Amino acid sequence: MLTHNQPMGKYCSFRTGGIAQDFFIPENLNDLSKFLKNNQKPVLMLGLGSNLLVRDQGFDGVVIKLKHFNQLEISNHTIVAGAGTTLAKLSRFCESQGLNGAEFLSAIPGNVGGALAMNAGAFGSEIWQFVSSVTTVNTQGVVFERSPEDFDISYRQVLSNNNNEYFVAANFQFNKINKQDNIKTLLKQRNTSQPIGEANCGSVFKNPKNHYAAQLIEDSNLKGFCVGGACVSNKHANFIINQNEASASDIENLIIHIQQTVKSKFNIDLETEVVVI
Ligand SMILES: Cc1cc2nc3c(=O)[nH]c(=O)nc-3n(C[C@H](O)[C@H](O)[C@H](O)COP(=O)(O)OP(=O)(O)OC[C@H]3O[C@@H](n4cnc5c(N)ncnc54)[C@H](O)[C@@H]3O)c2cc1C
Repeated sequence: MLTHNQPMGKYCSFRTGGIAQDFFIPENLNDLSKFLKNNQKPVLMLGLGSNLLVRDQGFDGVVIKLKHFNQLEISNHTIVAGAGTTLAKLSRFCESQGLNGAEFLSAIPGNVGGALAMNAGAFGSEIWQFVSSVTTVNTQGVVFERSPEDFDISYRQVLSNNNNEYFVAANFQFNKINKQDNIKTLLKQRNTSQPIGEANCGSVFKNPKNHYAAQLIEDSNLKGFCVGGACVSNKHANFIINQNEASASDIENLIIHIQQTVKSKFNIDLETEVVVI
């Protein structure tokens, strides 16, 4: 289904952002391949929008949402999940199958596709630790099976040896033994440390080597500091919350202010984790 002029604030957890010229929701992989083959416009792949800030000027291209790619099954101890499957669902499915290791995913409000692109992680685990292979599609609509060796994977960063490919599904191997984490406990831990219920995108900055971004921001006395409707959370300094109808520019200007303040105080460069479009 192709629509036009969609406000991205509707699809991003920051609840703000410009307009996407085109917005496409493919029915299946065949539909997506055909669309990409004929498409000339820049593409923005959208997951749950929990790590995205689309500037107020909008996106002059096509946003693709893999909403119907929500396959989730187990075959020979391998979990097969479509890119549009939520991490919470994947985590609970693993638990129901007696598999361990996926509990941390329940705390990350994204989709499989977005988590693969970000190498999402929490509580000491990262999603790519459990990937055995992925299915991708390139900008010409050609489908590939890739292994983790085809990617350069690091902290919140995944670079592909093959440019211009998007994730459409993944195979995961989780453990049958060593149950350590419990979904309920992890979620409780999250709820006490993060501003749940307020519009945000999780951690705005990556942790610099040997430092915590939140600590550096707090030590810069920036907790509660606002630009327009965007404020540094009082609960967790690495979170920016859309407190009062913030524009994307408010959020971006606050990001820049935090970076400049931390740089001048500690001589440390904060790199954004949030993807700015
Ligand atoms: C309250 C809160 C807590 C969070 N906690 C964590 C945490 O603990 N750990 C963590 O790592 N993150 C955390 N995040 C950030 C975010 O949830 C993760 O980065 C998540 O993996 C993003 O997934 P998404 O589906 O929402 O992706 P989106 O935000 O929609 O997209 C993120 C990036 O992935 C790309 N992308 C999306 N789908 C695909 C695809 N199919 N193929 C290729 N590229 C794609 C997008 O183009 C974009 O560049 C948190 C966010 C919030 C709001």
